[in-house]
Amino acid sequence: MSARDDCLFCKIAHHQLESDYVYEDDEVCAFRDVSPLAPTHVLIVPKEHYDSVVDGIPATTLAAMIRVATEVAKDEGIFERGFRLVTNVGEDGGQTVRHAHVHLLGGRRLSKDMGETPTRERSL
Ligand code: AMP
Repeated sequence: MSARDDCLFCKIAHHQLESDYVYEDDEVCAFRDVSPLAPTHVLIVPKEHYDSVVDGIPATTLAAMIRVATEVAKDEGIFERGFRLVTNVGEDGGQTVRHAHVHLLGGRRLSKDMGETPTRERSL
């Protein structure tokens, strides 16, 4: 399985760096975000390296990530009240770690703010 030496989440997924894991199997692992934005903030990542969820990641792996997010939401006791799954892609999407991941957020009422930064100039 390919892991990149320069990738933080590859290191966590392959236990070269330890984290606060909440789930792991051969394909996917889930661990707590180091800067949580909600009482439950877990990152679900594939063990194989993909830059993002639109970087040719197999549909079966994406499905596994959503299944794990669902299981973790149940384990965390937030499934019934609801939660948010977010995946950021690229610079404008706010992605800071270039390894595919889905954020699982819950445990409080989340705002509808989509995190736009309207002041930034950009040319389309
Ligand atoms: P994103 O900005 O969507 O790429 O999400 C990256 C997330 O990784 C952020 O929410 C960070 O707080 C989180 N993060 C960064 N370093 C670590 C780490 N060592 N362990 C756990 N989460 C991390």
